[in-house]
Amino acid sequence: MPLGVPLSPVPEGFPGRVDFIKSAQRLQEAPHVPLPEICFCGRSNVGKSSLINGLCNRKQLARVSGTPGRTRLINFFNVQDEVVLADLPGYGYAKVPAAMQADWGKHIQAYLASRPQLVLALMLVDIRRDPEEEEQQLYSWFAQGGRQCLIVATKADKVAVSRRKQRLTAIASALEVPRRDVVAFSALTKEGKDLLWGAILAQAKRAQVSSSASSEASPEASE
Ligand code: GDP
Repeated sequence: MPLGVPLSPVPEGFPGRVDFIKSAQRLQEAPHVPLPEICFCGRSNVGKSSLINGLCNRKQLARVSGTPGRTRLINFFNVQDEVVLADLPGYGYAKVPAAMQADWGKHIQAYLASRPQLVLALMLVDIRRDPEEEEQQLYSWFAQGGRQCLIVATKADKVAVSRRKQRLTAIASALEVPRRDVVAFSALTKEGKDLLWGAILAQAKRAQVSSSASSEASPEASE
């Protein structure tokens, strides 16, 4: 459970440097940078680009999209040589043909199968909406693959503070996840930013420690 572990301290002004690595049209084109990877996934228009821009202190790193659902690329970013962020295509946009929607599921499953460096998945849900079948399906793919997953309830500023707890609890129970694994985020106020970085960095550190421990245990594995 990502938030069940102590969060890493987030240095003041982190992250200073974020570099775009590449856009991969196909998984074979995905970069293999030797860093822990974090993926971002959610319905079109949920606020995924705004979350990535907000976390990275940028306005235009990820494009806040005028034509949601049309991009089928995975965009990769290197955050200060500490972690790689993978921005997965959005889904569920009504105007996208059904065949393309079905393709999306195959892409995500292929991505999960091919990225051993993936240490944490952030699944985005609009704080005002209850997760639907697509989100439940997506969460089950992460869970079945043994991936750690945090739920980000986006656009938190759109809900009165008095209703926040109720919304986060409803989202957690619809997805059958512990309440502590649902984090509210607002791109306007930056609420949730330090909490998310704390969880991302802690998870990245844990993954690096366990991979160096396993290569020390069997040195021939790294030869
Ligand atoms: P994406 O399609 O998931 O990448 O979503 P975008 O980041 O493009 O956001 C979709 C729309 O929601 C845009 O009009 C954003 O300005 C708006 N939006 C995103 N995040 C927030 C937020 O935290 N608060 C508010 N009020 N609006 C947001």
